[in-house]
Amino acid sequence: MRVLVLTGAGVSAESGIPTFRGKDGYWRNLDPAKLATPEAFAQDPELVWQWYAERRERIRAAQPNAAHGAIAKLAQYAEEFLLLTQNVDDLHARAGLPNDKMVQIHGDIFVTRCSRCEFQDKGRGGSPKPPMSGRLRSIAPTSGNDLGVPRCAECGAPMRPGVVWFGEQLPWNEVQRVENFLDRGSCDVVIVAGTTATFGYIVDWALRASPDRDGDLIEVNPEETSLSRFATRLVREPAATALPRIVDELIGS
Ligand SMILES: [Zn+2]
Repeated sequence: MRVLVLTGAGVSAESGIPTFRGKDGYWRNLDPAKLATPEAFAQDPELVWQWYAERRERIRAAQPNAAHGAIAKLAQYAEEFLLLTQNVDDLHARAGLPNDKMVQIHGDIFVTRCSRCEFQDKGRGGSPKPPMSGRLRSIAPTSGNDLGVPRCAECGAPMRPGVVWFGEQLPWNEVQRVENFLDRGSCDVVIVAGTTATFGYIVDWALRASPDRDGDLIEVNPEETSLSRFATRLVREPAATALPRIVDELIGS
């Protein structure tokens, strides 16, 4: 069995992590769609870092849910498996899914990388502040708070969260990993869970994995999405409710 699973914010939301959409996504009355941009970071890196520090804390306090568990279980049974997630949290990993079976196409919120050069810090330290390990120097904050912005140990430029912001390109290496997986053959099962599939590349990849719908294309989402009309099976339930059942059916069959 060759399986591709695509997940989005809905799967994390069921662990209590707010999505960018709707009122819950707002932070200090600021719109995430405006904060998660290179422009916002250039204008006020401290503010953006404060937002990410709080988000990191919230993710650390959250637990994987039954959807994460079911996907990790399916990965163990499938001969070939890839999870393509738009989520930047670590809940899939904490549910037991190995890194080599997962692509975080929008990056990893716990990575801190230079805004100018290639230097990055993958530490997952317990501090709610931006990581300021021995290799990172902080500059004196200018706006009256003590958070500061970490600076690159190599070139001195401000460090930034290792995520893909609105208007930025997807990470080339991760795109290649998806392309390579799809090039090796079509999938018997494609599951798309907890995403409205608003990004064209998500729809394209899901359809490429299941050309002519030879296999199953299962959509698990409470609402209709742009992928719904292509699905061979629609499950209008939350992922944590539906996925354990679907995975047990697939493993049993
Ligand atoms: Zn640098």
